[in-house]
Amino acid sequence: MSDWNIEQAEELYGVNRWGAGYFSIGENGNIKIAPNHRYPDITIDMNDVVEEIKAEGIEFPAVIRFHDILRSQVEIINETFAQAIADADYQGEYCGVFPIKVNQMREVVEEIMDAGEPYDYGLEAGSKPELMAVLAYNDNPNALTILNGYKDKDYLTLALLGRQLRRKMIIVIEKYSELEMLIPLAKQLGVEPMIGLRSKMMVRSSGKWAGSSGDRAKFGLSIAEILNVIERLREEDMLHCAKLLHFHIGSQLSDIRKIKEAVTEGARLYAKLVQEGVPLEYLDIGGGLGIDYDGTSSTTDSSRNYSTEEYVADVVWGVKQICDLENVAHPNIVSESGRAMTAHHSCVVTNIVGEIKPAGTDFDVSASDNEHILVKNMRELYLSGDQYHPQERYNDAAGYKQNAYEAFKLGILSLPEMAKLDTMYWRILTDIHHSLDEENQFIQELEELEDMLASQYLCNFSIFQSAADTWAIGQVLPIVPISRLDEKPQVRCSIADITCDSDGKLSKYIEGTEISDNIPMHTLKKGEDYHVGLFLTGAYQDVMGDMHNLFGRLTEVHVYCHDDEPGDFYIEEVVPGTSAEKVLQTMQYNTESMAKTVKKQIDRQVRKGKLAPREGVRWTNFYERCLAGSTYLSVD
Ligand SMILES: *Cc1c(COP(=O)(O)O)cnc(C)c1O
Repeated sequence: MSDWNIEQAEELYGVNRWGAGYFSIGENGNIKIAPNHRYPDITIDMNDVVEEIKAEGIEFPAVIRFHDILRSQVEIINETFAQAIADADYQGEYCGVFPIKVNQMREVVEEIMDAGEPYDYGLEAGSKPELMAVLAYNDNPNALTILNGYKDKDYLTLALLGRQLRRKMIIVIEKYSELEMLIPLAKQLGVEPMIGLRSKMMVRSSGKWAGSSGDRAKFGLSIAEILNVIERLREEDMLHCAKLLHFHIGSQLSDIRKIKEAVTEGARLYAKLVQEGVPLEYLDIGGGLGIDYDGTSSTTDSSRNYSTEEYVADVVWGVKQICDLENVAHPNIVSESGRAMTAHHSCVVTNIVGEIKPAGTDFDVSASDNEHILVKNMRELYLSGDQYHPQERYNDAAGYKQNAYEAFKLGILSLPEMAKLDTMYWRILTDIHHSLDEENQFIQELEELEDMLASQYLCNFSIFQSAADTWAIGQVLPIVPISRLDEKPQVRCSIADITCDSDGKLSKYIEGTEISDNIPMHTLKKGEDYHVGLFLTGAYQDVMGDMHNLFGRLTEVHVYCHDDEPGDFYIEEVVPGTSAEKVLQTMQYNTESMAKTVKKQIDRQVRKGKLAPREGVRWTNFYERCLAGSTYLSVD
């Protein structure tokens, strides 16, 4: 193992680059986690967590949540804003909210509320069911609740209920008609609403969510519409209810310059509205704080070219500068960061259940009588070793293979002949690849050899359930073995999931500072599990998954650090994944009657004497046990 060390593993998988201080590679070659930003010396060995999960009889795949990371992220954003506000002698406060659409899991929301309590950290909702959740879960009278999204009468009424409960609940007007609904409702119920105005921003953001701003944006009011809203509120003697100006130019903003531009535009609008006599108190800058998923610190869609400190400082100083110029009091700053709060705290751990090689190379290729000339030619090439230039050898092999294919279609080549020829073809390619590798040669045209020869590692999970954005929008998520990182990874492979969909695979991998089509992993050992982690899945991925092929939600394991025993951790809770039965029921199947039907058919075979009664019972029980079981592959 002298030709490989931890530094090289780090170089390859970039764990420190995307790990944000939480993830690294330990001396023993296992992934190491430092979940508490205040105590970076308290670390957990991820392989110990995996072993403990196995010991508890829990099957993979599983989502592992590190609640200490969630808490750390909440503390970091609040403390970073507090520091910047102090440094800038800024007169307003920071009043953050967590947008629950990013991860609505109850345990996640509870943990965030608990960690955020000292800072009066609040919640944001964008739909009626989310509003019902935040109404119950944000009971801190000093914390904001921001209500976005399109609203109907029930939505608005629930928001007014929040006001009756003395909560700081701000209804953000997304379109003018919502105001016309709200005014009579508030009067009729005798409740004074807190109103926010969402501005349709002129700045054009970039990246996957560029459509969130500009003239054609789905949400928000143009300047003309904002002025109409103001006028209408003034008419109704409700202008004092207008408390907040809101904007959100998109998620995962990769370029800090767009953020500065948006802050300038938003702050200017805020100041001008205050000068018009609107008694605003809050400026809400929305979400968008990015995550460096690919670890490149760049403006690619899966990265960001700034730090959290820089983001916060640019917001605070940017707003201050404009308000000072306009002679307007500094607003309280609200931000709705969701991705940045949650992405790091959870990961999917699963096992590799098989390897799909590009083509079989273990068929007996020894010569037999009366072989076709094409097979002979290929064998000659195969045995020629490195007599030829790699490029020439490749050209010949590809030519023979093409001719063989034509001959096979015409019925000239037999099945065994075709099998031998194909096997030798793949062995030749492998040879060429090794020789290029050893001599450190690079031949442009042979670059594709790497892809052609890559294996597929079959991974026990569904990307549609656990990593939807990798499929939908080409998001890069880091995937790294949990252990053996002190060993040189020898197999180039891509990761395929167990759905029947050809799309069901990861297509982008972090390899150093590049994005690759495949990634080096370790050879699989018989009788030994090979666990890999798909990291940074805590934002959106956890909750957006669908049940393609009826693969259900994963088992969840919630891990906490021990306060008093450094290096130790405990599993606080295990939430079982969705059973096959539950998944079928959501598709309207009656699983009870399915079990009965299958039992009836088994009984019929028993009556006919084709099955022993004892066997019949065994089959019936087995079917029922599978219904109650996991939707994923069981590995014994
Ligand atoms: C989605 C959304 C957010 C969260 O954005 P992140 O980029 O995840 O921080 C915040 N505000 C609004 C209005 C949103 O729609």
